[in-house]
Amino acid sequence: MLSYLSAPIGASIEITKDCNLKCLYCFQGSRQEGIELSTHEICSLIDELARMKVFTLFLGGGEPLMQKDFFQIADYAINRGLEVGFSTNGTLINHSVAKEIFRKKLGRGLQVSLDGSCPKTHDALRGEGNFNKTLQGIRNLVSCGIHPSVAVTVTNHNIFDIPNIVSLAKVEKIRHVHIMCLLPAGFAKEVYGQLDPSIKNWKTLKKTLVELAQKVKGKLTLDWGNRCYEPPTLDFSEKDYSSVDKAFAGCPAGKTKAVIDCFGDVYGCDVLKDTSYNAGNVRERSFKDIWDNSDVFIAWRNRVADRIEGECSKCKWNFACVGGCPAMAIHHGNDICSSDPSCPINQYARKGISQLRL
Ligand code: SF4
Ligand code: SF4
Repeated sequence: MLSYLSAPIGASIEITKDCNLKCLYCFQGSRQEGIELSTHEICSLIDELARMKVFTLFLGGGEPLMQKDFFQIADYAINRGLEVGFSTNGTLINHSVAKEIFRKKLGRGLQVSLDGSCPKTHDALRGEGNFNKTLQGIRNLVSCGIHPSVAVTVTNHNIFDIPNIVSLAKVEKIRHVHIMCLLPAGFAKEVYGQLDPSIKNWKTLKKTLVELAQKVKGKLTLDWGNRCYEPPTLDFSEKDYSSVDKAFAGCPAGKTKAVIDCFGDVYGCDVLKDTSYNAGNVRERSFKDIWDNSDVFIAWRNRVADRIEGECSKCKWNFACVGGCPAMAIHHGNDICSSDPSCPINQYARKGISQLRL
C-alpha cells in the first residue's frame, strides 16, 4: 500500500436524512432504516476529527438545516478549529436564518443548489414553488452580506439554461457558480440515462462556459470540475508532477476525503454508498481506526495511475486524472480501477453507453 495521510483533508458528516424537498435526482435515494446519529454522537465525532487534524468539515444531509441542532453542531465544529461548509436547497433560509448564518460566520463555505434561471426549469427538477423559495433564500443571504456559491447540476432539462443561470447569479450578487454533472446515485440512478446530457452537448457547454467565465470575470467565478478531466492548460505535463502529487492525484475518496452518513457508516465518497464501499461504522470502531485500517480505504489508496485499466491507461492525462470518476465506472458495471466511460476524451470506453446520443 502507498503511504497515506493521517487524516482526510476534508470530511463530510450527513447530519440528517430529512429533507423538505423531493428532488428528481436526489443522490441520497430512499434509504430510511437505521437510527440517525444524535447531536451528541455527531459532536463526539467532530472531537475525533479535530484531534486527527482534519481541516474542513462539510455538513450535509438531507437538508442540513432540517437538523434541529444545526447551528449548535456548526458552532461546535468551528470552536474545535474546523473550517465548516454546508450545502442547502436554500428554501429554509428566511431572514433570521440568514442572520444566524452570518453571525456564526458560516457564509464562506455555503453552497446553494440552483438548477434553473426560472421556475419552469428549476421546479421541474426540484418541485413546484421551490425556485422562488430558493431565490428568496439567496436574497436573504445577500441582504445579510453573504454572497454564497450556487451549485448547478447539469441535465438534459437545464443544459440550455446554464448561461441564463450564470446571468442570474451575476445579477443576484452570487460569488461563484459550480457546475456539476449528474452522478448516478440514489434516485438519480433511475433517471440517469434519461437526464444525463450527451457528450456532444457537454462539449458545447464546456466551450460556452469558457466564454462565460471571461465575460463575468471580476464579478463572479465559474468552475466545471467534473465530466471533463483534462487540465486547463495543455502544456501541463507529467514532469510537473512530483511523487507526492501522484500519490494524491485523481479521485479523492479515501485519499483526502471521507464521508460519514447519518447512520454512522463511513465511505470514501457520498455517491458510492453500496455495502461493498462501506468502510465501517463509527458506533462500532473509531473513525481513526476505520481511516487507517479498513480494507475499503486501503483499496481507494491503491487506486493509482498505473493500476487503471482500459482506455484511460493510454490517455496522456492519466497521471493527473487517474481514470476519471470511479463512480461512473462502477455505475456501468465495472470496478474502481476501470476507466471512466463518461469522459469525452475516452472515445473507446464510452461506446455502447452514450454513442447513440452523440
Ligand atoms: S480518458 Fe480517462 S484518464 Fe483521460 S482525461 Fe478522460 S477520464 Fe481522465
Ligand atoms: S468517486 Fe467520483 S464523485 Fe466520488 S469522490 Fe471520486 S471522483 Fe468524486
